[in-house]
Parts: sequence; structure tokens; C-alpha cells
Amino acid sequence: MKLHEYQSKQIFSKYGIPIPKGRVAATATEARRIAKELGGRVVVKSQVLVGGRGKAGGIRLAKSAKEAEEVATQILGMEIKGLPVRKVLIDQAANIEQEIYLGITNDRAARRPVLMASAAGGVEIEEVARTNPEKIIKVHIDPLLGLRDYQARDIAIGIDLPKEYWKQFGDICRGLWRAYMECDATLAEINPLVILKEKSLMALDGKMLLDDNALFRHPDLAEMRDVDEEAAAETEARKYGLSFIKLDGNIGCMVNGAGLAMTTMDIVKLFGGEPANFLDIGGGAGADKVAAAMRIILSDKNVKAILFNVFGGITRCDEVAKGILAALKEVKPTIPMVVRLVGTNAEEGRKLLADAHMITAETLADAAKKSVAAAKA
Ligand code: GDP
Ligand code: MN
Repeated sequence: MKLHEYQSKQIFSKYGIPIPKGRVAATATEARRIAKELGGRVVVKSQVLVGGRGKAGGIRLAKSAKEAEEVATQILGMEIKGLPVRKVLIDQAANIEQEIYLGITNDRAARRPVLMASAAGGVEIEEVARTNPEKIIKVHIDPLLGLRDYQARDIAIGIDLPKEYWKQFGDICRGLWRAYMECDATLAEINPLVILKEKSLMALDGKMLLDDNALFRHPDLAEMRDVDEEAAAETEARKYGLSFIKLDGNIGCMVNGAGLAMTTMDIVKLFGGEPANFLDIGGGAGADKVAAAMRIILSDKNVKAILFNVFGGITRCDEVAKGILAALKEVKPTIPMVVRLVGTNAEEGRKLLADAHMITAETLADAAKKSVAAAKA
């Protein structure tokens, strides 16, 4: 789950990381009022769940409350990378001397979290990572020992941070580490962390990704989810406990088990097709789940054929077949559907589907071939 900048910064602030004074507005009038309270010189920041807002024109300085209102009107009317801007953060403007990158994420290859920093922070950090990776300094953190003081110091030295900031930098690194750990985050990032003209450090931007599998133990964080900002299909999928990821192809895939779902996508590609989604209906999925999955797949107008690949173990094929039939009654799809059912109660499942005008397949390769052909026809 992605958090907005303002949410991430509120969390950072709880862990002692300095952030600018500011508040969120949903209208330009509100933006003006907040800007006035903050003294007029503010930065108006679009709150959308994508990076690169600055480059897209979604971050703008304003010199007065009136200007903040004008800028907010423009930004609230924008779409950034396809996402409409519904909220803006109005922050007191900062006087920046230098922009630093600071982030913690999980390094799977090293099997531990990694703290990364760069003196070349700001909007070009991806470019720096590509062309000058040596400018990004990293230390791995032992999850049991936590971030050690000397590690924060090593990073400070590595990015040539003047000594007068080391203590504050250490506090910020420790705060970020605690925020990362205690929120079960997979990313906690400050870009830019700035050196202010006033000679102190401040987090101007914030980004956090939280591990969905740990959200059950953070009801307060789970509540921060902004459903307006995610694809409707993903919200619907979560409601039914389905793992769904939309892709760009035209063959809808309904599969039980994540591994089998990935295999199915690979085989579809192998036979020249493009999957429209990743979808795992999970073990033991009943009729209601299958119907929901089918509605979700069919809500994508690119889908030209659906491939059902169900390996009955815990999931019973007759249950899945009933789900398909229920969904057919409800959504009445006009596109071809290919079904491969094997395993527990497969025979009963096939019987149920016999009259539903579906294309049946014996093997996965056969099913993929038939789906690709059906999508082209
Ligand atoms: P992003 O583009 O989505 O990462 O948005 P950021 O919040 O990082 O803002 C992009 C850039 O805007 C920053 O790297 C800064 O250069 C600039 N910026 C953000 N806030 C301020 C501010 O208060 N004052 C000034 N002068 N620049 C700012
Ligand atoms: Mn940023």
C-alpha cells in the first residue's frame, strides 16, 4: 500500500524527523486560507500516488496566499501520469541549500534492509542511480541489531555531509529506520532531505510503501488507504481477497495459485499472446469469489478472451464451475472463454460447464493456444 506524501511526512514527524509546517487542501479557497496562515510563501504540492510530480508541474512555489490559490486551482485541475489530483499539500516554503536523498528499502539479494543516501538528491535521483551509481552510498542493516550509530556516521561521511549536521543526520536516519520497522514498510524515503539556508536539515518530501501482508496489525495505517486513488478493480479485488494486477494485454487470466498464475501468463506469452492481468483466486475459492474475479476481468475493455486455468486441490473444480456459471448469468460476457479444469471434482466441473458454450482444453499449452486464437478471432 502506498501512502501519500503528507501521510508519510506525518509518520516521519512522529519519529522526530523535522518536516515543514503545512496542511492538506481539497479546494483552492482552502489552499489560500492555509497559505495565509503559513505566512504566504508556500509550496503547493499535488498529492497523487506517483513519483516525479515536480517534473510534471505538480509542485509549484507561491509567493502569496493569492498566488497559492491560483496555483492550487491549476494543480487541482491536473492529471499526473493518468491520476487526477484531488488534494494539494500546502507547505511553508523552504530555503534550500542542498538536496540529499535518504531512503531505506529491503534488499532481497542481501536478505536485509539497506539504507541509501546521496548528496545528489532531488528530482534527478533516478538518473544519478543509472549514470553514477557510485554516488549512492549504501549500508545494510542487521534487522536484529538495528541501525548502528557508526553506520549513520559512515553514510554522512560517504555523502560529504559537513560535520555540523552529523548529529541531526544520525537522528533522522534512526527515526527513518524506526518508522520503516515499526510500520512494516517496504520503503521509507526522503527525497529531498534538505540542508536549509538556516543551517539545519528538513524532510521536504516523503514516501512510504507498506507491506500489505502486515497491515492487519496496523489498523491505524490501513485506514490511511486512499481508495479514490487506486484502480477500481484493485479495490474490488481486495474486498474479495483476490490478488489482482492489471496488465496491458488482451487475454484475461483466472487462475488459482500465484505460481500457476505466473506460469499461465508465461505460456500465454509463449504462444504469442499477451495477458491482461495477473489474478490469483486463491485456494478454496468459492462461487462468489469466482464471480467477483470474472466481473473484475471483464471490466477491462481490452480483454478479448478469458482463460480459466484451475488446478483443483483445495479448490474444488465443481465450485469454480458454479462460480463461472453464476458470473455468466450476471455479467453475460460476449467474448470467448477457454477452460482448463484438472484435479479435485474436475469431471463434475466439466459437466456443469458443458452447456455454457465454453472452449475446453486438456493441457495448459492447449488452453493457451486456444485462448490466443480466440482473442485474435
Ligand atoms: P517529487 O517530484 O514528486 O519527488 O516532489 P518533491 O516533493 O520532491 O518536490 C520536487 C522538487 O521541488 C524538490 O526536489 C525541490 O527541488 C522542489 N521543492 C519542494 N519543496 C520546496 C520548497 O519548499 N522550496 C523550494 N525552493 N523548492 C522546493
Ligand atoms: Mn521527491
